[in-house]
Amino acid sequence: MTQLGDLTTQHGTTRVGTASQRNVLLVPLGATEQHGPHLPLSTDTDIAVAWCRAMAQDDDNVLIAPPLPYGSSGEHQSFWGTMSIGQDALETLVVELGRSASESFAAMVFVSGHAGNAQPLSRAVGTLRSEGRSAFALFPQLDGSDAHAGRTETSLMLHLHPDRVDRDRAEAGCTAPLSEILDEMIAGGVGAVAPNGVLGDPAGASADEGAALLSQLVDLGGATLAQAGEETDLGGSGTLP
Ligand SMILES: [Zn+2]
Repeated sequence: MTQLGDLTTQHGTTRVGTASQRNVLLVPLGATEQHGPHLPLSTDTDIAVAWCRAMAQDDDNVLIAPPLPYGSSGEHQSFWGTMSIGQDALETLVVELGRSASESFAAMVFVSGHAGNAQPLSRAVGTLRSEGRSAFALFPQLDGSDAHAGRTETSLMLHLHPDRVDRDRAEAGCTAPLSEILDEMIAGGVGAVAPNGVLGDPAGASADEGAALLSQLVDLGGATLAQAGEETDLGGSGTLP
């Protein structure tokens, strides 16, 4: 696993031919936002970083950029500690970062740990692709997962950082399906439907379940890496021939 921040710029000129320009760059996108009474504000960033690390584990040609610890979190703004840069800023940031990164890397995958980044990120990736750049977006789409600070994220954090989960404070929040509460949430934010900030129920969360969820995320990412590889002639998995 290679982190971009650990390399020197020589990495781009000492590799054979244009090898370094054939690397795939993973960019972890997180958030700094409330995650109920039991999970840290960095939860989405932690998950994005772990997801990228797991994807890059066995492939030196997949590099990991430093993470962005802020995202579009307006729906959580009524809770202490939430720091959102909003949709427009995130979209602009990803477009500019992508334009810059494409000078050095064959393809880039923006890996978001926060579902609220989905719309601006999709728009930004659409812009980058319309400019002929090989850009992709990944979101944590997991079958049967709950929305926020519930069993899914609690399990992932119990697997990744058990010392940072305050299990004694874990409690259920709003467990109604998102489709039923969406209008109220758009109007009044997460606090309007879940005073404790939890959309779901952390009961039953476990480190084992978190490990299984992470491997599901890696499978999801593998499909995108393969797509990036095909699109840029890197070979099936993004690995150099
Ligand atoms: Zn989250």
